[in-house]
Amino acid sequence: MTNKERMAIPPQAMPEQKPEVRRHNMGEVALGYTAEQAKCEASRCLNCPTKPCMQGCPVAIDIPGFLAKAAEGDFSGALEIIRRTSLLPAVCGRVCPQEKQCQKFCTVGKLLKDVNKAVAIGRVERFCADNAGAAPSQGQDQSSAGSAKRVAVIGSGPASITCAADCARAGYQVTMFEAFHKCGGVLVYGIPEFRLPKKIVEREIEGLKKLGVRIETNGVVGRTLKLDELKKDYDACFIGTGAGLPKFMNIEGENLLGVFSANEYLTRSNLMKAYDNEHAFTPFWHGKRVAVLGGGNVAMDAARTALRLGAEEVSLVYRRSMNEMPARAEEIHHAQEEGVEFRCLQNAKRVLGDDKGRVRALECLRYELGEPDASGRRSPVAVAGSEFELPVDTVIVAVGSGANPLIAATTPELNVDRKGHVLVDEKTGMTSMPGVFAGGDIVLGAATVILAMGEGRRAAAGIKAYLENAS
Ligand code: FAD
Ligand code: SF4
Repeated sequence: MTNKERMAIPPQAMPEQKPEVRRHNMGEVALGYTAEQAKCEASRCLNCPTKPCMQGCPVAIDIPGFLAKAAEGDFSGALEIIRRTSLLPAVCGRVCPQEKQCQKFCTVGKLLKDVNKAVAIGRVERFCADNAGAAPSQGQDQSSAGSAKRVAVIGSGPASITCAADCARAGYQVTMFEAFHKCGGVLVYGIPEFRLPKKIVEREIEGLKKLGVRIETNGVVGRTLKLDELKKDYDACFIGTGAGLPKFMNIEGENLLGVFSANEYLTRSNLMKAYDNEHAFTPFWHGKRVAVLGGGNVAMDAARTALRLGAEEVSLVYRRSMNEMPARAEEIHHAQEEGVEFRCLQNAKRVLGDDKGRVRALECLRYELGEPDASGRRSPVAVAGSEFELPVDTVIVAVGSGANPLIAATTPELNVDRKGHVLVDEKTGMTSMPGVFAGGDIVLGAATVILAMGEGRRAAAGIKAYLENAS
């Protein structure tokens, strides 16, 4: 096929549940390509000699390589290429912000002057992961097979899953410690079922078990077991405890009944299955008029969850404009289609309550955009005297989250920055404590799944080098 013929292939639309249907159920919104669509979409790739898409991929997947296999219908071959650098393709194909990463650099999108018309790399990746079905336990390196060396992995999010898998593949005895009763980190407690079905995460955890990883849930390291104690029993430790500490606005009325952190709200719905009221007895606040504060993925997930749990009106209050909104483009688009009202250039000033201490309204201020701030985004400036009331019964605060503080608080030798992020060596991921490594959101601050995965992989390589030197 010539490049001209490839360019003439229309972008394949993702089959989706209709907005009016899906806003009432928890089923996955995007249904996935058919094999024919996956082949067709992959055939749009021009196999550019300079591979610009790879520069946008944090783990440098051989994108043209896997697309070429997929275009031939060899989805197992495609998946094998993806798995060389990415452990969680079914997850990343669904949740990576591709429009800011690989697809942003894609030549096809550039030639068509529309990033939405770039090769849909993530969707083809998802198809291969869902349908070619290689078990994560394949491709073991086993270079240290039979080793008596023991590695403790704390946390079970994408950073820890990757680190544990790589260490187990290298032949070490790995135990994973997770504070919750279920493994997966944000992939199970934060990202809702309608975006990432939990069976996909369960499959990855099963893959870890097949690799021989021992899993201990309901164990809070730093509380039930101190890092110092773990260090005595294990030859190396990895801290992948994430950034799950909710931040609030620190405004008047935030302690009223009906105000939640997005973290608590989503955990109740996802991990504690509050949406499944036939089988779960999780207490849940079923708000009818809901305001969500923030503009990231967490805010989108909270707003769309509120709709599915019976809210009649959901407003997303964001102090910048649509252009600065950090959420994935697809989630913004889906939230709009489902009827979430976007209130940009507005922000909460205080929460107002009734005589029973329950939320009755949000007092908001209007904003304008000023000069760019340190992040390069134009900073929002409040318009004096622009206060107005938004009648609501529920407020969900999704304005970011901080490093989980427990381990640092109980391990004085562990160096952290002023925000509590663990400081590590850039090459190895080792912390100030010899033999203790860290990665993911606990190091980077709230980031992305693929970056957390990359950090887990770097730390596993660091652990291997450290243990080989020690023996
Ligand atoms: P986490 O996934 O946070 O896992 C940390 C784990 O450690 C948790 O299971 C926690 O319970 C456990 N833990 C914490 N403290 C202890 C302790 N003391 N002892 C034992 N266990 C402990 N990223 C994307 O790329 N795309 C998205 O669409 C996206 N959407 C998101 C939506 C939501 C609602 C949220 C909250 C985040 C989203 N992210 C998204 C960000 C992404 O999920 C995170 O960057 C990623 O999960 C970080 O991985 P991690 O392994 O570092 O930590
Ligand atoms: Fe294919 Fe786009 Fe990558 Fe070029 S930039 S190799 S067209 S995916």
